[in-house]
Amino acid sequence: MSPLLRRGAEESAATADEPAGVAPRRPPAGVLRRERRALLKARELRLRDLGGLLVEMYRRGGFRDDLLAEGCADVVGIDARLAEIDELLQTRRNAPRCECGAPILRRSHFCPNCGRPLPAGAAAAAHGDDTVIEPAPAEDR
Ligand SMILES: [Zn+2]
Repeated sequence: MSPLLRRGAEESAATADEPAGVAPRRPPAGVLRRERRALLKARELRLRDLGGLLVEMYRRGGFRDDLLAEGCADVVGIDARLAEIDELLQTRRNAPRCECGAPILRRSHFCPNCGRPLPAGAAAAAHGDDTVIEPAPAEDR
């Protein structure tokens, strides 16, 4: 199981016991990315349909504004949802992550997923939105 999936399971287990409204429930990043991919594909198809429609209307010598507007509204709607998803994913990215996408653990010098050495600043700043935040370590005392 990937770290992301495990994390998602932990999240749902944790929020199950909490009273509603304490922590806003966000869909797991994997679900958002999958929806994003599907939307991008749907958007491409819709644009292609619109192009075909336009040519067909040209061929018949009459443009139907209502059909064109409908198709455009679809694409604009998809764009709006894509922006929403990007924002959600962006918030998640505040938690430091390795280049491979795995969340970085506090004070670790290597990625727990791929083993890549981490830049010095990344681990120090590593406390995710759902990680318990400890007081800063006082090392030079
Ligand atoms: Zn990594």
